[in-house]
Amino acid sequence: MDQPLLISALLTHAERHHGDQQIVSRRVEGDVHRCTFRELGARARRMANALDAHGIDMGDRIATLAWNGYRHMELYYAVSGSGAVLHTLNPRLHPDQVAWIVNHAEDRILFFDLSFLPLVEAIVDRVPTVKAFVAMTDRAHMPATSKIRGLLCYEELVEDHSSEFHWPRFDEQRASSLCYTSGTTGNPKGALYSHRSTMLHTYAAALPDALNCSAADVILPVVPMFHVNAWGLPYVACMVGAKLVFPGPWLDGKSLHELIESEGVTLSAGVPTVWQGLLAHAESQGQGFKSMRRTIIGGSACPPAMTRSFQEQYGVHVLHAWGMTEMSPLGTVCALKPAQLALGDEARLAIQAKQGRAVFGVDMKIVDAEGKELPHDGAAAGELMVCGPWIIGSYFKGDGGNPLVDGWFPTGDVATIDAEGFMQITDRSKDVIKSGGEWIGSIDLENIAMAHPAVAMAACIAARHAKWGERPLLVVALKPGKSATRSELLGFYEGRIAKWWTPDDVVFVDSIPLGATGKMLKNRLRDLFQDHLLAVA
Ligand code: AMP
Repeated sequence: MDQPLLISALLTHAERHHGDQQIVSRRVEGDVHRCTFRELGARARRMANALDAHGIDMGDRIATLAWNGYRHMELYYAVSGSGAVLHTLNPRLHPDQVAWIVNHAEDRILFFDLSFLPLVEAIVDRVPTVKAFVAMTDRAHMPATSKIRGLLCYEELVEDHSSEFHWPRFDEQRASSLCYTSGTTGNPKGALYSHRSTMLHTYAAALPDALNCSAADVILPVVPMFHVNAWGLPYVACMVGAKLVFPGPWLDGKSLHELIESEGVTLSAGVPTVWQGLLAHAESQGQGFKSMRRTIIGGSACPPAMTRSFQEQYGVHVLHAWGMTEMSPLGTVCALKPAQLALGDEARLAIQAKQGRAVFGVDMKIVDAEGKELPHDGAAAGELMVCGPWIIGSYFKGDGGNPLVDGWFPTGDVATIDAEGFMQITDRSKDVIKSGGEWIGSIDLENIAMAHPAVAMAACIAARHAKWGERPLLVVALKPGKSATRSELLGFYEGRIAKWWTPDDVVFVDSIPLGATGKMLKNRLRDLFQDHLLAVA
């Protein structure tokens, strides 16, 4: 009972009790690689010896710039298991931001997939704490680069070191991994996870009413391992002994569909924008899904139209989930209760638009501007506050001040909570539209537009208005080859929403700008269009 909760125990368990279970990865090179949990264990121990040989100490940060794949998984365990801190970098950020984050984290080694060679070359002279760069490939594929001195080869590090290694035992409160928030304002902030927080999160995530994972599952995390540990799935898979399928950089609808079908994927996880590509491909090719039963959708609101397509057209159940970097990330999952399961299709779909109920370990409440707790009646909307053992209490190095308010973490999301405990996000607090002092939730407006057959993506933003202060403006990207007029789209709101919530105007764009984690960059749209209504008035 005194045994600390350490991430290395997950690997030891997977190796010993699910040794033959497979990890399938599509590599940068395009081929498909297969290995087992037994091989994962041996190679992670070799890598742990390699880290030791390079003088890595407990607590040192080791950075990765990598896709979802078996080598990244090996680093998850080798780095954290040996007491160092796995720092997953988001390669979609601008090189200046990546360099800033590496310097802030004071990373000692940087491992990178070949796709990111240009990015590493762009920052190599600006990251003095990094003593070694490792290309995650074999000798035959080592890139020619004059910019990175002494570039090391991943496979050589593995081969050159023994698989004899005993995972050290240490305090479970020690840091295991680090992920910076993709905030759109100010400097990025580091969310530092501990072994204990990660382990507790893993137990909770695997539960039937959470992500519902078992040894019978074949899990495809499309959500990147560089963003909040792929929602914890690389840990969950080892805990339950599930087969893992990694897509590498191949995230288009066709590649994902092929992998799902050929590997018998039962459960996938990703943000709505990724699934748009998959659904568009399946629809255009008239294809379905043989084995996929469930898909976890989160990171931004899952439009009901997407839930409907997955469930009614393809028989794939949607698990709408919500969380954030600071929460490891899991907060809520929309797993229906028995009485809700007995409801008709439309009523169930309406509930599935909600982000769901708290998984054990996460407590949540909504508060008004004065911090007073609001009722759980499904109507009162306030700022969502959370607390629990896998939610950060401060940012890495204490930067960004104390985020907590009376021990609760303010999420920056505006939400309602109903009597059944189901939470629904109406907005990010900074995206809320304040019309004549009343709040209008942009997510509702976007969900309605997304149900229009011609709409590929919709964002609703606050545009300045002479009379009302702000009014909703709908920004729309249409599906290729489809058309819809302004009045058609605005007419689509009739009967679906209170009349005064209907957007004042529609702006058509080729595409909606997306951030590094696939979320719509509404601040960019606001910069472009916030004066649109004043201009047309
Ligand atoms: P990040 O820390 O980058 O993962 O972003 C976390 C934020 O993403 C949350 O605070 C929400 O604003 C948003 N988010 C995550 N999941 C959902 C969801 N299912 N619906 C709506 N917003 C979401």
